[in-house]
Amino acid sequence: AKRWGRADAVLRGLEERSAAPPARLRQVADAMAVEMHAGLASEGGSKLGMIISYVDSLPSGQEKGLFYALDLGGTNFRVLRVQLGGKEGRVVKQECDEISIPAHLMTGTSQELFDFIAAALAKFVASEGEDFHLLEGRQRELGFTFSFPVKQSSIASGTLIKWTKGFSIDETVNDTIGTLAGGRYDDNDVVAAVILGTGTNAAYVERANAIPKWHGLLPKSGDMVINMEWGNFRSSHLPLTEFDQALDAESLNPGEQIYEKLISGMYLGEIVRRVLLKMTEEASLFGDDIPPKLKIPFILRTPHMSMMHHDTSADLRTVGAKLKDVLGIQGTSLKTRRLVVAVCDIVAKRGARLAAAGIHGVLKKLGRDIPGSDKHRTVIAMDGGLYEHYTIFSETLENTLREMLGEEVSSSVVIKLANDGSGIGAALLAAAHSQYL
Ligand code: ADP
Ligand code: MG
Repeated sequence: AKRWGRADAVLRGLEERSAAPPARLRQVADAMAVEMHAGLASEGGSKLGMIISYVDSLPSGQEKGLFYALDLGGTNFRVLRVQLGGKEGRVVKQECDEISIPAHLMTGTSQELFDFIAAALAKFVASEGEDFHLLEGRQRELGFTFSFPVKQSSIASGTLIKWTKGFSIDETVNDTIGTLAGGRYDDNDVVAAVILGTGTNAAYVERANAIPKWHGLLPKSGDMVINMEWGNFRSSHLPLTEFDQALDAESLNPGEQIYEKLISGMYLGEIVRRVLLKMTEEASLFGDDIPPKLKIPFILRTPHMSMMHHDTSADLRTVGAKLKDVLGIQGTSLKTRRLVVAVCDIVAKRGARLAAAGIHGVLKKLGRDIPGSDKHRTVIAMDGGLYEHYTIFSETLENTLREMLGEEVSSSVVIKLANDGSGIGAALLAAAHSQYL
């Protein structure tokens, strides 16, 4: 009984420190909007990069012709071609090839890497079939998604800020803009894109004259896509626990990506593991000995957590099975399993509520958080495995956003899953920025 009391105390402590009631969410949303302003005002003015993407027009759906995309990720790259048929034809046909990058090229010079990529791309182009055809007088145009942080100097040039390896946190950098482009192609009312996968990020369409740090010519469209790099958001209003602090301190990038460490798929399972470890240390939750696997960082993945959280069986048998298979813990009682689910519930819902607050912040910045005189829809293109597969997370996010916005506004706000938007997004951007337009 004493043990349960102690385990319960850890749970209650977690619950208290993780609390994200409406008032706090409003503060988080306000802080997000304030940081957006600061990041647009000056370079380095905010934790948010608010990177100018040089994408000044998004696809309209009218695009026609043959376009290519190259998507360079962590260990492989994808090449894609798409035949666009305009308003009626839409995506007539698309083909994709995935090529893994030989290990020695990952550590070699960038010259060798880019030679390899160019050769692979040339081969892919050579395999172009009869179904694809360039419009008269055109050359092939290519969109390039680069999953490393790049400081762009124009839409077609940029400098690599740093090579990032290991975890795919930075993978979302330009994915987000691809998702925005793909989302807009499908639905003209898309104003922002959010990624909730291994990492998290957001991008949105800003008015170019609302970007004080922009000193170039104003684009014809008057618009500019901003890559927020919102994973690096932080605020004193974020409900951080001792578990978050320890996770951050022991991470590869301490002090960075604090928001991402609260809401994204890479970390949710790891937070749960840390709570369970503490319950074991303080309350012998899983018997007198600490199960060795429970001490291994990142062993409990968010998909495992999600499966346990969604277990509806009377004896929580999936929870029992995961504890056994993933953590090597046998013969857990129903009471223990319930406690594990309670931990998942707190961690997932906090993340989802904070993600909703972030979106609310973006809508505030866009002036879409209050009832407008014109009854336009506001669509957010969403991508990422966390949002797609973790139902309790996505439902909590949507409900929270609805609560925050109120009935009237939320009736015109839609979150739309943009499945694999980023794949074709780069090709669509090439089309929208075609030199032949
Ligand atoms: P990435 O973000 O790496 O580009 P995805 O968008 O496909 O890739 O997202 C993958 C991430 O989504 C995983 O790392 C995991 O955190 C999360 N995820 C995948 N499946 C599930 C699931 N069933 N439940 C919860 N989270 C999941
Ligand atoms: Mg992705």
